[in-house]
Amino acid sequence: MLEKTGVPDPEQINKITPSQERLKNGPVAIVECFQNIPCDPCRYACRQGAIKEFADINDLPVIDHEECNGCGLCISECPGLAIFVIDASYSADEGLIKMPYEYLPLPEQGEEVIGIDTEGREVCNARVVKVQNTKALDRTPVVTLAVPQAQLMKVRSFVKKGGE
Ligand code: SF4
Ligand code: SF4
Repeated sequence: MLEKTGVPDPEQINKITPSQERLKNGPVAIVECFQNIPCDPCRYACRQGAIKEFADINDLPVIDHEECNGCGLCISECPGLAIFVIDASYSADEGLIKMPYEYLPLPEQGEEVIGIDTEGREVCNARVVKVQNTKALDRTPVVTLAVPQAQLMKVRSFVKKGGE
């Protein structure tokens, strides 16, 4: 499916989803990288050693979710915008998703937006909790959204309300 549509299938998503136990323990990276391309900056971005050494630069990244502390340093280092950090421990109803966001204007903290999936379909209302845009992030802003718990593995970007 990915080759034809650019959208991963449920089996691919299952493979990269942390266990329910790990998700409950706080922020953790989700690496949605499914194509063998010559790319490996994620591995060097991770100071925890959670992203394992590549035997070949074309390998898919392998992450040990138990080693990942959810710091998010890898998000802006990924040229494929394929890394997200999910925090299911945020509250009983909502979880957090940290995502790369390269569109302008950037949203404001507290702004209500619409979360969308990898196919651009509207999933749910979401709230901007944090916007990071520092030199250390190599000019790839990272936006943290609060979304309903059930949508943590679905929302992968957002659009502003009112079509801006
Ligand atoms: S979130 Fe932090 S600890 Fe986890 S894989 Fe990315 S850089 Fe490593
Ligand atoms: S940096 Fe991103 S695109 Fe490159 S291998 Fe790592 S996850 Fe995949």
